[in-house]
Amino acid sequence: SLTQLLCKAGDRPGDCAAVAPPPSQASLEEIAQALVRDEFVPFFQPKIAMRNGQLKGVEALVRWQHPQRGLLSPAHFIDALEGTPLMADFTLALVRHVLEQILDWQRHGLPPLTVSVNLSADNLADRGFIDRLMAQVSASGVAPPALVWEVTETSVMRQLSQALTNMGRLRLAGYGLAMDDFGIGYSSMQQFARCPFTELKIDRAFVNGAAQWPNRHMVLKSALELGQSLGVATVAEGVETVEDWKLLRDLGCDMAQGYLLAKPMPAAELVGWIRQDRRRLRALAGEE
Ligand code: C2E
Ligand code: MG
Ligand code: MG
Ligand code: MG
Repeated sequence: SLTQLLCKAGDRPGDCAAVAPPPSQASLEEIAQALVRDEFVPFFQPKIAMRNGQLKGVEALVRWQHPQRGLLSPAHFIDALEGTPLMADFTLALVRHVLEQILDWQRHGLPPLTVSVNLSADNLADRGFIDRLMAQVSASGVAPPALVWEVTETSVMRQLSQALTNMGRLRLAGYGLAMDDFGIGYSSMQQFARCPFTELKIDRAFVNGAAQWPNRHMVLKSALELGQSLGVATVAEGVETVEDWKLLRDLGCDMAQGYLLAKPMPAAELVGWIRQDRRRLRALAGEE
């Protein structure tokens, strides 16, 4: 894949997320118990318009509030869930939290934000799951355009025809659809063009340090050109430095997400963050 290619091209060791060994996985029994105890909660990471520094939306990223081990990232349990019947319940439990949060932000008069939620390969291929997902959103009263489902290239490719059908159904219902981690999978341009995406998220492997590494810069530039030619919004993941921000802006990227702007945070911190960081973000957008 492109990631492997770039890792061989003389990068610092340990630089590519794809080669770091995953932590040991929680057992399914523990995960099932955590679901019953409602210990999976979304954190939210802002997505910022590069043109003016405005907050456009947030991505929901799951965290396990483990009673003994503290806050656990998805690297500790997502792989264990894949391929099991628990994955559907897990995603629906997280979506329930997300919907409650959207309604809460609306009640507090926050400007409308789109919230992105990650779906797994299993989720995307499962017609019954998509039915339950859409029914859950309908019942909450949240309008579909407030939500963007993020799917990876690999998830789409695993069961292409089911994935295409379900993506079509989600788009028809008015949801946004993002291709996540673009650039590290194997799909061809032709397959990509068949998918009804509204957003293209470029993997951080091509964003981090793009200003210093010509090969990353090159992949980043062609990914942005692809998104622009297809007329979908482009989002850069993993923006960590002002240099990367400036390069992305000059290449015409629409939105940025990354530690330079904000780390994923609990819902309760978002309102304060918006208030505190508005001026800093506007200054960043105006930076020469
Ligand atoms: P993703 O969807 O590509 O999410 C982006 C990941 O990059 C997040 O890691 C985020 O915390 C991290 N990140 C954001 N900005 C930066 C940055 O500037 N630098 C670096 N180094 N990292 C940054 P996280 O939260 O650990 O999630 C990892 C992956 O787990 C996600 O990748 C997604 O594939 C999966 N995931 C997260 N939440 C869910 C979920 O609710 N359901 C499913 N199925 N998968 C999820
Ligand atoms: Mg994502
Ligand atoms: Mg991603
Ligand atoms: Mg990624």
